[in-house]
Amino acid sequence: MIPNMNYKNLKDSYLFYNIAQKTKAYLEEHPGTHLYKMGIGDVSLPLCDAVIQALHRAVDDQAVQTTFHGYMPECGDPALRNVIASYYRRRGVNISPEEVFVSSGASDELGDILDLFGNHKTVLIMEPAYPAYVDANLIAGNQIIHMPAGKENGFLPLPAETIQTDIIYICSPNNPTGAVFQREQLQAWIEYANKTEAIILFDAAYEAFIEDENIPHSIYEIPGAENCAIEICSLSKTAGFTGTRCGYTIIPEKLIRNDMNLHDMWVRNRTTKTNGVSYIIQKGAAAIFTEEGQKQIHENIKIYKQNAACLMEALDQLGIWYCGGKNAPYIWMKCPGNMGSWEFFDYLLEKIQVVGTPGEGFGKCGEGYFRFSTFGSPEDTKEAAKRLVKQLAEDF
Ligand code: PLP
Repeated sequence: MIPNMNYKNLKDSYLFYNIAQKTKAYLEEHPGTHLYKMGIGDVSLPLCDAVIQALHRAVDDQAVQTTFHGYMPECGDPALRNVIASYYRRRGVNISPEEVFVSSGASDELGDILDLFGNHKTVLIMEPAYPAYVDANLIAGNQIIHMPAGKENGFLPLPAETIQTDIIYICSPNNPTGAVFQREQLQAWIEYANKTEAIILFDAAYEAFIEDENIPHSIYEIPGAENCAIEICSLSKTAGFTGTRCGYTIIPEKLIRNDMNLHDMWVRNRTTKTNGVSYIIQKGAAAIFTEEGQKQIHENIKIYKQNAACLMEALDQLGIWYCGGKNAPYIWMKCPGNMGSWEFFDYLLEKIQVVGTPGEGFGKCGEGYFRFSTFGSPEDTKEAAKRLVKQLAEDF
């Protein structure tokens, strides 16, 4: 038996391992020191009350014969699919509940969805990128076109006529850069995909952080997307579901390639490969889409946004180039004094005990850049920003 030899093509990811090792070594040398952790991509605020109440009610349902639920429909609870479709309709996007597939989160879907395409496909990944895109495609045996982005295009590359690809990943708002595609830029990608018959996998994990009115939250806000795009969403950052686990994927019924209907294929895939998401979790997720739930999750998002504002103000004061922060929970800054990203990591740790994420960990073109997350505590973020301003003003 020969196993999937593509696993040999995976590169060890040293990013978070190295960060953990370096911070551990620092703490061993400086016991009791408080570190200001601006590197985490996980939320820190608890679930909102509307969700907690719904989860409690759902647990109680499971204790009573008449309200007990066994297996849930594989593609999702119709009630949850319905409220998600209404969420899109409120933004003028016409999605039917049947086009919504409830999932256990975006990570699972980003890898699983490749089942629709078969092996040996060509995949375009804009870099710096969320590392799972690369690894899922290496495991699937796909050929990756690494499309570098940079400061010159605001980390928002546009399609080039010369590129031939089957699949295109677009992450907007982006992790790690926090950059967001404008309507016309997404339109260009959609036109390119429809012309070349490629499929766009649109990762909308951070859509809830968009505050500029003219930036699309969903790719389906752009005409033509229903013929070329799949949207993958997560409730992790939107509503603090990183440990609770729930997300959803939109596959339009119009999405057809080579006479095959990708929506129908995904129904078949889910009914084969899953037994649905837990009743309790789906009830909790549905509460996010109520008026009260929306109000409460945005109160939490506001706190992360205040963290972003605080860090952006510090960088503005220092005159350092950055993107993100406004419509995303990440800030992507140019390392000062032409430092490399790991060099800057060591500098921040040593001098001001601030921990962030070196850009190089998200692809080669991330070298020389650094990511701050805004998911930390407001107190730590304020202190980190204060220390940044003082130290960098002194040294650069
Ligand atoms: N997509 C992006 C861009 C992310 O940053 C993350 C998580 O950090 C995910 C997907 C995964 O989300 P989930 O927790 O729903 O698996």
